[in-house]
Amino acid sequence: MSTVLVVNSGSSSLKYQLVEMTTESVLANGLIERIGDGGSAGSSKHTVTVDGQSPESFSSESPIADHAEAFRVMIDAFEKHGPSMKNDPPIAIGHRVVHGGKRFFGPTVVTDLVKINIEDLSELAPLHNPANLEGINAAQQAFPSIPQVAVFDTAFHSTLSPAAYSYAIDADLADKYRVRRYGFHGTSHKYVSGAAAEFLGQPVEELKIIVLHLGNGASACAVAGGKSIDTSMGLTPLEGLVMGTRSGDIDPAVLIHLHRKANLGFDELDELLNRKSGLLGLSGRGDMRDVVSAANDGDEAARVALDVYLHRIKHYVGAYMAELGGVDAIVFTAGVGENSDVVRAGALAGLEGLGISVDAELNSVRGGGARRISPEGSPVAVLVVPTNEELEIARQCLTVI
Ligand code: AMP
Repeated sequence: MSTVLVVNSGSSSLKYQLVEMTTESVLANGLIERIGDGGSAGSSKHTVTVDGQSPESFSSESPIADHAEAFRVMIDAFEKHGPSMKNDPPIAIGHRVVHGGKRFFGPTVVTDLVKINIEDLSELAPLHNPANLEGINAAQQAFPSIPQVAVFDTAFHSTLSPAAYSYAIDADLADKYRVRRYGFHGTSHKYVSGAAAEFLGQPVEELKIIVLHLGNGASACAVAGGKSIDTSMGLTPLEGLVMGTRSGDIDPAVLIHLHRKANLGFDELDELLNRKSGLLGLSGRGDMRDVVSAANDGDEAARVALDVYLHRIKHYVGAYMAELGGVDAIVFTAGVGENSDVVRAGALAGLEGLGISVDAELNSVRGGGARRISPEGSPVAVLVVPTNEELEIARQCLTVI
């Protein structure tokens, strides 16, 4: 059996998935939360799913001090509930790493030098890269002879042109402090654009695709011939679309104005834009389900929040159609994109003149795999394609080991 273990390590969490690569099926997956939450007894929670089943008896709660211990707990769970990693170890361990800066443009086998570089890039992703590195170190400790592969969220966007990635500010200052647009969600955009091409039965190299990854974080990506040519997130995942708690695009002078007039410091502004803005800031609700249901109940702030969210998506669809010189497919993915017919219909409403329309009946079908929601014969295919970042990471591992 050829398996790849995919690891997504957060500051206090470890998410993992064991993928069998011949059939690309998930054998087991799990989530360990509240790592290092030293306080109350039994604070860390471990949820385990094997063969799609997650009985209560597979879950456990016990204090877990750090990622190294979390790895031991994960390996114990594999021994108890299967499949045994000791008898049948994975051929590679793939790690999601958020920021690869300008240095990493594809999956990379982890060496000491690669780790130094990931650490050096922490100043651009202080909440993510150090946690990703902890996961890599813990995996190396647990499985010293298995290749570890870093798969970067930014890598798919390394094909952006200087016109798309440069901010129009002092060039020397930008260079010195590595200020440019990097883009994120790259693993998802790559997977979804590839899966959309497969669904359409056409080579991705021949298609112009706009991917709308609408999850808790949200970004749009213009994909030409399988390559990212523009994306809405920038130096950080704050730029672009409106998100659950993030503002997305904003006039930078708003910050200066609020600093001067409302006396907000840098940390407060950071908190404001990353955690108290977006749908939450506009309506007091950060979850799209709550926003839609409140808007339906006549809540004016929720209606405005939804309208701003949809307006921004439409703005990017238009911009990317211009950059691509047309579009063959527009693809919705992630939590909101896969589940909200209201958002899908609203974001593309009124674009019939551009060959884009959504069929109300097809759009209302819930669940399932990749599907088309534009009417038969419509010039632009509008699709819903569930994302699968773990599978994409596992596939990319195989290309470098
Ligand atoms: P993700 O980051 O891809 O896991 O997406 C999480 C987000 O998906 C949550 O913040 C929810 O707001 C959103 N979501 C999940 N189900 C629905 C739904 N049925 N309608 C609207 N939004 C949803």
